[in-house]
Amino acid sequence: MRPEALLCSTPAGLYSPAGDFYIDPVRPVDRALITHGHSDHARSGHAKVMATRQTLDIMALRYGAGFAGQTQAAELGQTTEINGVSVSFHPAGHVLGSAQIAVEKEGMRIVASGDYKRRPDPTCLGFEPVACDVFITEATFALPVFRHPDSRDEIAKLLKSVEQFPERSHLVGAYALGKAQRVIRMLRDAGYDQTIYIHGALAKLCDYYQSQGIHLGKLAPATVENGSSDFRGAIIVGPPSAFLDRWARRFPDPVSCFASGWMRIRQRARQQGVELPIILSDHCDWDELTQTIGDLGPKQVWVTHGREEALVRWCDLNHIAARPLHLVGYEDEGD
Ligand SMILES: [Zn+2]
Repeated sequence: MRPEALLCSTPAGLYSPAGDFYIDPVRPVDRALITHGHSDHARSGHAKVMATRQTLDIMALRYGAGFAGQTQAAELGQTTEINGVSVSFHPAGHVLGSAQIAVEKEGMRIVASGDYKRRPDPTCLGFEPVACDVFITEATFALPVFRHPDSRDEIAKLLKSVEQFPERSHLVGAYALGKAQRVIRMLRDAGYDQTIYIHGALAKLCDYYQSQGIHLGKLAPATVENGSSDFRGAIIVGPPSAFLDRWARRFPDPVSCFASGWMRIRQRARQQGVELPIILSDHCDWDELTQTIGDLGPKQVWVTHGREEALVRWCDLNHIAARPLHLVGYEDEGD
């Protein structure tokens, strides 16, 4: 079977002509397979949704129980037939519940990896390489300039600053799904046992992570009414959007921190008024992308959402057939 008959790009997203389903469609469709809960991949309004149990739970938390007509939970590693196409889900290492989706028919296997990363993350299962003929990779940080530093060193930078400035609060911007819980969990792993204050927008997802066995320690709402704390010396975690509104002004002389892969770009950190950039990404950096393609050795690589050209060029130089997919509508909320 030609790969394009198994999966191809359409205005609504990645579509399987053979199986009549979409992967992470950007418009409402009859049947959607969803890789993970970030809002650009997981949208409400599809008739049927298949995803891991955790991704379905996260979608219900974010959109309400009626986010789809019907849902089907995918067990990791198990194969399901959809209109004669074999479909299986495998850990992607991106956020809790995230999965790559492998589709196979007549000896042709394509893996749509969604968003993924290779380095360890204490809040989700690690990326599992799946041999395939065609590997579809994201390209969020697909430039050689993007080399993410050791994640633990970045968390150590935050803790050192907390120690140096005990009279100031540390306001950490982190995306609500995945990044926020990863920052909190890594602070715990580094030995920080004080209460961590969270913005209301993180509460349901943090509760959900805890219900799934990801222990986040003592959390409390970052509200002034909540008690005696004036937040001096405290760590407060909130979504990046909250930093622009009045919510952020209640904290004493805050050190503004932002946990993102984009913090590699100093100018970007400065423009956003970030005093302490924390380079922590839920996506592969350049080395992880090229290492993954090297490990899998697919016959073809299809590149999507991000800096497609550089990775396509790298594949060309390494004699791997590659092309950009030109899918639209993906701007990851969890970089
Ligand atoms: Zn994502």
